[in-house]
Amino acid sequence: MSERKVLNKYYPPDFDPAKIPELKLPKDRQYVVRLMAPFNMRCKTCGEYIYKGKKFNARKETVQNESYLGLPIFRFYIKCTRCLAEITFKTDPENTDYTMEHGATRNFQAEKLLEEEEKRMQKEREEEELNNPMKVLENRTKDSKLEMEVLENLQELKELNQRQANVDFEAMLKQYKELEEEQRRKEQEEDEQEMKAMLEQAQNRRLLVDSDSDEDPAQARPKPRAQTKPTDILQEVRGAQPALPFPSPAALAWRSVCPLCPSLGDTRLVSRLSSSQRPSALG
Ligand SMILES: [Zn+2]
Repeated sequence: MSERKVLNKYYPPDFDPAKIPELKLPKDRQYVVRLMAPFNMRCKTCGEYIYKGKKFNARKETVQNESYLGLPIFRFYIKCTRCLAEITFKTDPENTDYTMEHGATRNFQAEKLLEEEEKRMQKEREEEELNNPMKVLENRTKDSKLEMEVLENLQELKELNQRQANVDFEAMLKQYKELEEEQRRKEQEEDEQEMKAMLEQAQNRRLLVDSDSDEDPAQARPKPRAQTKPTDILQEVRGAQPALPFPSPAALAWRSVCPLCPSLGDTRLVSRLSSSQRPSALG
């Protein structure tokens, strides 16, 4: 066992590597390898499905006269699990994939085929446009047309969906009922207000008529109908300076203090004085 671990290898002085005979092996030599099916396939002979990941003892060989950017391409031989027919597939370094070669068909490739088709069409179009500026314009108009069509279709679909949309009749009815009730309430309130206003007016008129018949018109209360603003009454009072029938408390107080006005009868002057003094005192 000790010679296995030897570290220094002795080469005799007459050693010539060129003299070592070459191992003669055919280039298309096959090796047995263990592999898994790289995609779903169906045997052409018996129709058996072979799923992706199924393990096989396969033979592997290098494909002659074929390479991608200097990379060798390998071919694998497997046998159908039911009928033992030979199935072969190759590596595809260009698409980082495998290609079915013989004995079976590849399944679930619709997406890949579609992608390939799209790619091909795009390439074709680019080539066409490269040489023909008119074609560019044509393609652009075609594109915009297509876009419009797509939008229209989308709108149509949306409308269709709306037509088929679920309608919540209960909620709709409830909402409508609430709205109706609110409107009714509002109307009622308005009616009440109107009625109140009318009643008030009628009452005022009656008061007016009463005062006309009994008392002096100057002493009557100002007509409520003429009042549009509550502040109007102030203006009226200021302008008219109505005679006070009785001395105001301020006037009485003034009279008790003032020595110049001993007469009890001249209340008007005092009241006028007090009223003229009031604003300045306030201001
Ligand atoms: Zn088969």
